[in-house]
Amino acid sequence: KTLRKTVRSLEPTSPAEKIFRSTCPRNCYDACSMLTHVRDGVVVKIEADREHPITQGFLCSKGGVYLEYLYSKDRILHPLKRIGEKGEGKFERISWEEAFAVITEKLRRIAEEYGPEAVLYYDFSGTMGVVNRFFPHRFFSRYGSSRLGWTLCNEAGRVGISYVYGAAHGMDPLDMLNSKLIVFWGFNPAWTNIHGLNLALHAKRERGAMIAVVDPLRTETADIADLHVRPKPGTDGVLAYGIMNVLVDEGLYDRDFVRDYTHGFEALRSRLSAFPPSKVEEVTSVPADQVVEFARTWAARRPSCLQIGYGMQRNLNGGEMVRAVSCIQALTGNIGVSGGGFLYSNSRYFGLDLGWMEALHLSPKGRRTINMVKLGEALTSEELRPPIKMLFVFNSNPAAVCPNQGLVRKGLAREDLFTVVHDLFPTDTVDYADLVLPAPSFLEYEDIFFSYYSLYASINEKAIEPLGESLSNIDLFRELAKRMGYMESELLEDADQVIDQVLSRGNPLLTGITREELRRRGYIHLNTPKVPHIAFEDRVFPTPSGKVEFYSERALADGYDPVPSCVVAPDVPGMFRLLTPLSKYLLHSQFHNLPRVRELLGGPSLEISREDASELGIKDGDTVSVQNERGSCTLTARLSDTVSKGLLASYSSFWPKLSP
Ligand code: SF4
Repeated sequence: KTLRKTVRSLEPTSPAEKIFRSTCPRNCYDACSMLTHVRDGVVVKIEADREHPITQGFLCSKGGVYLEYLYSKDRILHPLKRIGEKGEGKFERISWEEAFAVITEKLRRIAEEYGPEAVLYYDFSGTMGVVNRFFPHRFFSRYGSSRLGWTLCNEAGRVGISYVYGAAHGMDPLDMLNSKLIVFWGFNPAWTNIHGLNLALHAKRERGAMIAVVDPLRTETADIADLHVRPKPGTDGVLAYGIMNVLVDEGLYDRDFVRDYTHGFEALRSRLSAFPPSKVEEVTSVPADQVVEFARTWAARRPSCLQIGYGMQRNLNGGEMVRAVSCIQALTGNIGVSGGGFLYSNSRYFGLDLGWMEALHLSPKGRRTINMVKLGEALTSEELRPPIKMLFVFNSNPAAVCPNQGLVRKGLAREDLFTVVHDLFPTDTVDYADLVLPAPSFLEYEDIFFSYYSLYASINEKAIEPLGESLSNIDLFRELAKRMGYMESELLEDADQVIDQVLSRGNPLLTGITREELRRRGYIHLNTPKVPHIAFEDRVFPTPSGKVEFYSERALADGYDPVPSCVVAPDVPGMFRLLTPLSKYLLHSQFHNLPRVRELLGGPSLEISREDASELGIKDGDTVSVQNERGSCTLTARLSDTVSKGLLASYSSFWPKLSP
């Protein structure tokens, strides 16, 4: 009740001060609720909301630099046009009138000469605000541009888990407080979900929960865990099978749950004998006795929470590894009970209708989709018809974060490519732009947020007017639609109208949650029967059989193994495996331009084990060159216990131009 009903009145410390409710818009599990203090139109303080059950009154280091971020001298405040070479970052100020005239002329001419699919937009998670993230897509649907396939992030794992459970949204993180075992698998919440770690530590302190970490790296989370299991990267599926083998072999699995609520147990069981602990040790490097101990602990400490990170599935067979790991929760009967379940991505609880949100009904039929991880190929392809002649970037910095960076830059440097970039800061991508448009920070626009972790919807009030001439995503694309002569009402709605519709499209979990209520309370838990919500409490699963599927006909029909497969990429003699986890101080490439952050970060580095360094004659602080078939970079070697022999790590994502 308390969790659902919390209302906090906002009391400014002086009559001259106003307090607005904000939500951190970063692509972060936590979606922190914040209170923004404004005096005379200037933000003077941003504090974490003490009442929010996840935020609990503190922000991470990224949330701590928002004042510098907001008032950075690097902010782009006016439209700019290129006056130097592509990549040089030389611009002169122009008016919005001129910018809109150039863009609309280009859009019309390209549509005539090549067809609208010669225009591609590129965006992702620069803001997670529902309105400002998705509304721009409506414009491109109407125009008929190539569509961007959002494949970065967590899609492979989502599909993998969905084969098993029918959905990838699981535990309410608040329910972690009822768990006796919390397993962070391929996940370092100390850096990327600090409020989740806080919940786990509460569960440990107050309920005696045990924290286990499965991670090839010795992370800050691993250092405070009770158990650290350290498989070689890409072998997680084998480890999962090894654990399940022990559970079945020793009769430690939940027979009743498996009998009543799962499908295909015999098919799974028939695979398990290939994974005795000794074999698992050989493949994963996890000692056989630790595999056994971990399985026994998992069976004994019920209920358990399994949180699976996204890094593991960005790997050969990644979706299948996540699928295999997720099966452990069903085998141990940790589904549908308080304190038990899996956590992966909870965004689908909010039921956002993306087809409607992006106005796909306005799109021409058979519109082309370009896979976002293949931007470099798309921009440099000689075969693509029509070729990409215009790129419109917003909410992203592909020159720093898109895979195959060398090819992306080669494409961005094309003289015949017209590039528009909407951003707050002069990123590497901005340097290649023909036109640069000023974007506001989240404190300068209204939006709502649906967390992909907790089950809270939250509001973000516009605290101050946009700085300079910056225009929010929704205002930019509304204006562009008008200037293109588009009259469809979907393209002209304002933020309040979109928010009202998002909240009233029939998802029963959003019943009673209105814009006014969100403004009053700041955040509201979804309208679930209980708070915390217990996922799958009725033991009915949206799979074809209605049960948890160890054997999936759906996977088979999609061309996959009906039972999770365990393909492991072979080691290549003389080659290292490189992991590129998120940095503690950056959110992908965001914040790297802030001097205080750069001071904390130091330069880009390469963590290497002392053993490997000694064999290669590398000393701490040496400059080393790292290369693969895609390219190379120069990094500073750091001798470290974070990595084991044969493994390297380099934290992402630095701005290339700030990392000479
Ligand atoms: S980055 Fe994440 S943890 Fe940090 S303030 Fe934002 S939402 Fe909170």
